[in-house]
Amino acid sequence: MTLVEPGRIESALAAIRPERLLQHAIRLCAAPSPTCSARPALDELAAILAGEGLAVERPEADWAEAPAVLVRFDSGRPGRTLQFTGHLDTVPLPFVPPTVEGGILRGSGASDMKGGMAAAVEALLALRDSGALTHGGILLTSYDLHEGPWGDAHQLHALLRDGVFGDGVLIPEYLADRLPLAGRGLGIFEARIRRPGIPVHEVLRPAGTADVLATGCELVRRLHSLSARWAQTPHPLAGAASFFVGHIQAGEIFNQSPVECRVDGTRRWLPGQSQEKVRADFEALLAQLASETGTTIESGYMTPGDAFELSPDEPLVRAFDAAYAHVTGGRSLPVGAKPFLDDGNAFMGRAGIPALTHGPAARGAHTTHEEVPVAELERVARTYAVTALHFCSAA
Ligand SMILES: [Zn+2]
Repeated sequence: MTLVEPGRIESALAAIRPERLLQHAIRLCAAPSPTCSARPALDELAAILAGEGLAVERPEADWAEAPAVLVRFDSGRPGRTLQFTGHLDTVPLPFVPPTVEGGILRGSGASDMKGGMAAAVEALLALRDSGALTHGGILLTSYDLHEGPWGDAHQLHALLRDGVFGDGVLIPEYLADRLPLAGRGLGIFEARIRRPGIPVHEVLRPAGTADVLATGCELVRRLHSLSARWAQTPHPLAGAASFFVGHIQAGEIFNQSPVECRVDGTRRWLPGQSQEKVRADFEALLAQLASETGTTIESGYMTPGDAFELSPDEPLVRAFDAAYAHVTGGRSLPVGAKPFLDDGNAFMGRAGIPALTHGPAARGAHTTHEEVPVAELERVARTYAVTALHFCSAA
């Protein structure tokens, strides 16, 4: 990694304006933006950036209801482009307006992830104001449709399809206690086990009538036994591959033979495993069970994100590490797994671009009690600005 002169780092940090950051965070949080209706927050972000004198683009990216927000800030000299990116939609819970008290910002989106986006904007503004970024550039992007199942992330996927990405990505989601260098892929399945005929009293069943409920139980047993086997060979960071069943439904009353049993759950796989093979193996397991039990099994299957692994030697990781240590007085984050899926999985899986999730230590994501310490937003802004200086300096 190219060494950045300390003077440039100090001038970028001196240009961070905590009051401006907080005002921007409040403005973003004050714009209600449930998933699929995030336009007010995206319009507000565009107004903030334009008000700061930046040229804002609004690509629709296959979602005209709420065009994305895009800003390119270029130093004018060769170097890498670091992308700051995040969603401005919030889970569709009752809207909580922003308040600040005792150094804590509360309200819808404060944690997930308007606070983090305001911090990323502040890092960009500090780099612009200070002139400290002498190589490469910053790409800032934001969009709707992140939170599933209401959104399907197709706006981000369209941006990736259209080549809108940098050489490395920072995502200010609420993860602050580890350096997430690996994560499992996620498949969500529903299996519908059916038999021919109609519901019937148990004693009136024709001989050999298939038992969909017992088949559902056998499916759960087989998935659990696979999980138990995989638990023996976990990935060092990401944990073990797994099946999990969270919902099973069949039957109407105690002595009636039902015609359908539904089993819903998740499949998580490890870095290095093929998501296509994972799915094919699951379909084969269902086909085998159906043929053994005289049932038919139809399955629905979605893949919100693939597994990933980042090398600690990745320039983005080294740049972030150095920045984190600088900003925190020499501390470093323990390497760990990313516990959730986020946009980083899409950047790595679809565009092959390294993406690191790091944001404020915030609480209450996906509840009506979101809160984030203002000091955390400032720390994230400083960390992002210094990461950019390290990362963009190299060609
Ligand atoms: Zn989020």
